[in-house]
Amino acid sequence: MNGDFTTEVLVVGSGIAGATAALELVRRGVQVTLVTRVQQPEESNTYYAQGGIIAYGDSNSADLLVTDIIKAGANYNNREAVEILATEGPGLVRRILIDTLKVPFDRRPNGNLSWIKEGAHSEDRILHVADHTGRAIEIALLQAIGKSKNVQVLTGHTAIDLITTSHHSIDIQERYARRACVGVYCYDRQSKSVKRILAKTVILATGGVGQLFLRTSNPVGARGDGLAMAYRAGGRVLNCEFVQFHPTTLHKPPSENFLISEAIRGAGGKLIDGNGEPFMHKYSPEWQDLAPRDITARGIHQEMLLHGATNMYLDVSVVGTPAEIRRRFPDIHAFCQQYKIDITCDPIPVVPAAHYFCGGIWVDTFGRTTIDNLFAIGEVACTGVHGANRIASSALLEGLVWGTRAANQISSVIDGLPEPSEREYPEWQYTGDQISDKALIQQDMKTIRQLMWNYVGLVRTTSRLERALEELNHLNTQIERFYRHRVVTDELIGLRNSALSALLITRAAHANRSSVGCHYRE
Ligand SMILES: Cc1cc2nc3c(=O)[nH]c(=O)nc-3n(C[C@H](O)[C@H](O)[C@H](O)COP(=O)(O)OP(=O)(O)OC[C@H]3O[C@@H](n4cnc5c(N)ncnc54)[C@H](O)[C@@H]3O)c2cc1C
Repeated sequence: MNGDFTTEVLVVGSGIAGATAALELVRRGVQVTLVTRVQQPEESNTYYAQGGIIAYGDSNSADLLVTDIIKAGANYNNREAVEILATEGPGLVRRILIDTLKVPFDRRPNGNLSWIKEGAHSEDRILHVADHTGRAIEIALLQAIGKSKNVQVLTGHTAIDLITTSHHSIDIQERYARRACVGVYCYDRQSKSVKRILAKTVILATGGVGQLFLRTSNPVGARGDGLAMAYRAGGRVLNCEFVQFHPTTLHKPPSENFLISEAIRGAGGKLIDGNGEPFMHKYSPEWQDLAPRDITARGIHQEMLLHGATNMYLDVSVVGTPAEIRRRFPDIHAFCQQYKIDITCDPIPVVPAAHYFCGGIWVDTFGRTTIDNLFAIGEVACTGVHGANRIASSALLEGLVWGTRAANQISSVIDGLPEPSEREYPEWQYTGDQISDKALIQQDMKTIRQLMWNYVGLVRTTSRLERALEELNHLNTQIERFYRHRVVTDELIGLRNSALSALLITRAAHANRSSVGCHYRE
């Protein structure tokens, strides 16, 4: 028994995008297998989302939302995708999150939902669960999946590579047909073996790339696995230069990856320098502390250079009474307190960090990639919704909308798709026999993160990008060779994907010579 099997639809990743697609597919009677990297299925970017999700109440307008998204995205957006998000999204928040899953969004004393505003939004149109919105949504989604008989969840399973007709079929004729995806090779941490999982359709929902950078708000799994897998299989990738840097993560070593939500500035929090002076009016007279993220992040970066400082500060005390601040931002308050920062009176030391990937695997309005029967949804995909820069609280909504649209599309065609035959696609070939070298993997990972932060970070120059390209090309060749001769592990899979994803981002950043949105060339 080698663990190989066949399923109807294989979903890779259990964040909001993958979990929504799985639930919507089983609602339509489709059988689903969901694989996810870590043992705890909730571990994802989704789980750590703090601020909220765009929806809107009776007084809001879809047209104004479209305008705000396109303005934040520097007019680089796919208008059709933005209009879909703005018109379908709020209804899905209501049907799936509020009515079906009963996500406990904050309400006012009169029982009405509490709408708030964040950076670059011109209306109060965001729903939140205190400052842990993503956690509440993720847990509700996974609980619903846990109750569903038609979803098989495999935790501790890392997808290694897509199985495609043109790369893997033993039938020579397949080389001349359109390229299609028929499954995934997947590493099972527990048995330390690789399974061949065949499927009529595969959905990649593997999230972002934050871990390729030294400073990030993302958890360790955000390492570009899906992007690299799709690229290796011949899929089109797009807009990879657009990595959004969040202006405010906590700067208090040894704390790592902790985001200080934009909702604090939405509620009136002010960015200040070491002397207590506000500075955002210099960088955005119109929006000031609520400027789009790229402008705010570069404003902080510029002030750090001016003052020779390691960080700037966020003053929360102006937001309300200490009790109001504790009630509105309980997680941020508790986390900072561990580092002896009382956010009700102490300014929070903050620095920008890699946060969100606006580019990704090219998909159409249903999440279809350029490879047949391969879908991509959520942060790993590029629908064009975010253009060159993402507006706050739109990523969770995009995962919900495209998770649903992909599920609709798949369920309408799945009965007509042939089941891939086990005889046509080989089992995993164990070629590597040397034990993985952990020290080498960790050092290479550190090199990539340092290189990307310094040369492909917030402010990019031609000479830095050229140097990064040279080093990443070399590193990719070395790592690919190393990978071929080693026993496969999750860390090795991650290193291989990180190196390729870093190269794709750097190539795109080098090729785009103009500054636009979150891609800034000096
Ligand atoms: C700190 C933080 C705060 C944020 N706040 C907000 C917010 O307030 N509002 C908002 O809209 N957005 C926010 N975002 C962005 C948003 O959370 C993400 O863009 C969104 O949740 C991505 O969802 P996803 O389903 O695409 O990916 P994820 O939620 O990241 O899920 C990816 C899944 O893929 C799995 N995976 C990865 N690689 C593999 C592999 N090789 N094999 C198997 N499984 C794999 C992971 O384990 C995980 O389950 C925030 C992000 C962060 C990090």
